[in-house]
Amino acid sequence: MLVVTLASSSSGNCALVSGGGQNILIDAGISYRRIVSSLNALGVGPRDISAVLITHTHSDHIGGLPTLTKYISPRIFCGRGTDVTLERSIRPGGEITRLDCGADLYIGELKITPFKTSHDSPGSVGYSITSERGRFVYCTDLGIVTPEVEAAALGADAAVIESNHDLRMLQTGPYPQFLKRRIASDVGHLSNDTSAAFAGRLADSGTRRLVLAHLSKENNTPEAAYSACTDSLRKRGAERDVTVRVAPHDCIGEALIL
Ligand SMILES: [Zn+2]
Ligand SMILES: [Zn+2]
Repeated sequence: MLVVTLASSSSGNCALVSGGGQNILIDAGISYRRIVSSLNALGVGPRDISAVLITHTHSDHIGGLPTLTKYISPRIFCGRGTDVTLERSIRPGGEITRLDCGADLYIGELKITPFKTSHDSPGSVGYSITSERGRFVYCTDLGIVTPEVEAAALGADAAVIESNHDLRMLQTGPYPQFLKRRIASDVGHLSNDTSAAFAGRLADSGTRRLVLAHLSKENNTPEAAYSACTDSLRKRGAERDVTVRVAPHDCIGEALIL
């Protein structure tokens, strides 16, 4: 199984998961044109995409979906509660399947298990994806690491987790107060420090590859996210056991290979 972020930030999110004979997107929050050019760079054609897993309906996760569904017809999966908004975003007649958290879905040989996340978008989920080579978890837009997220993520071989903002940069940055409060709230986004503590617990559970994702362009830097995470791992003596990468905002990231 191969997992690559095509874009990852508050202005657009999309990842490719290839394995078990399938090519699947997680979210489609960048333009269809960018999705196609990114896929082409990875040797994948848009018509090779069999499914799109949607985490939630904020525009940085579904902004490319209306155009995408005009050109190709992948099956679209989402959490229960997300489908009403999604129906307005796809080509009429396009197929959307609602998923129950904790229930397994098979796409080819990939087992997909959605889990609930705490975020201010109804039906917001993360995904656990298992192939015969291992298990990978994708969870961004986490206001907090809830027991459900923790239970779903611990023990995964690899994980893409949110590391959205440096709290000091957020507090002293240019955003209006209401937005700062929303981002730092339990239904907003995960700070570097909270993400780093989560990364430490993942390392303890056996996770060996981490990608820090959905970094804010205004309230974070790749260096701040990386050093918060690696400091946390170092404190646990796990820095040599776990590979940490930061997903770039606007281009293809390094592939996670399981
Ligand atoms: Zn987002
Ligand atoms: Zn969001």
